[in-house]
Amino acid sequence: MGKLLIVGTVAFDEIETPFGKTDKILGGAATFIGLAASQFENESAIVSIVGDDLPKEYLDLLENKNIDISGIEIVKGGKTFYWKGKYHNDLNSRDTLATELNTLADFNPRVPEKFKDADVVMLGNLHPGVQLSVINQMSKRPKLIVLDTMNFWMDNALDDLKEVIKHIDVITINDEEARQLTNEYSLVKAAEEIQKMGPKYVVIKKGEHGALLFHDEKVFFAPALPLEEVFDPTGAGDTFAGGFAGYLAATSGVSFGNLKNAVIHGSNLASFCVERFGTKRMQDLKREEVNQRLHQFKTLTQFDIELR
Ligand code: AMP
Repeated sequence: MGKLLIVGTVAFDEIETPFGKTDKILGGAATFIGLAASQFENESAIVSIVGDDLPKEYLDLLENKNIDISGIEIVKGGKTFYWKGKYHNDLNSRDTLATELNTLADFNPRVPEKFKDADVVMLGNLHPGVQLSVINQMSKRPKLIVLDTMNFWMDNALDDLKEVIKHIDVITINDEEARQLTNEYSLVKAAEEIQKMGPKYVVIKKGEHGALLFHDEKVFFAPALPLEEVFDPTGAGDTFAGGFAGYLAATSGVSFGNLKNAVIHGSNLASFCVERFGTKRMQDLKREEVNQRLHQFKTLTQFDIELR
């Protein structure tokens, strides 16, 4: 059991996939991270900002998962961050139709006193300046700082992003974003370049094609579980990050071997997230379902071959 501090958006999402569309529903990087991480025994807290237009039941939902929400600032008369996306037929790519920062535009994060000595800090996708401010508020260096980001911040705050990257241990990023950040097409070269920027570990997410973990010369690959039903990939990356960080906070071992396990836990949880719209599947996911799927993962990736 460890202490996990999560920073990121709590948002309204509006989503369209080939299978249907939603009105404004609960979303946000920190929401997905928190729900995934709640599968592990930790003390967790979210630092974020919302407007008072966010239904109370959304915050209750997080609190009911034992997540400390005292670090979520509620701005009177403010509007919550809003994101709208539309997926293409292959579900691996999407267009962002709207990003309204709203209250997020003037966000000064406040880390609750009790979480200033967190073991693991999971910096979810938001302005890199906010991510850095959270690192600076910690009373001691966390065992592990994990950062997730996206192309939006590379386009809008690249210098800030490069600065915060210097201070972290692990970055989780998708394949296209890794290429954008480094101007390298090869993911091996991109991971090498990113390691030179700061993080010792680089996780490259490839959607339905799994995830790669890089550290020095070492590489590990975890497939995504082939699923019968994929409904909505929104939040899969954040759910991966939540499972990854949640597992590491609970086990506190920072070795390549343990990070490999964390990648498997992240991939496993992400496989549930995509089965329903938004956070629906993650809201009442049972431990037994999670364990059963871990067994499937093991079977999927294990083989016996004699090597000379
Ligand atoms: P993912 O599908 O894992 O990339 O994450 C989707 C979630 O990220 C959605 O719930 C959005 O609310 C949130 N999101 C989208 N754009 C941004 C952004 N620019 N900054 C922070 N969060 C975002």
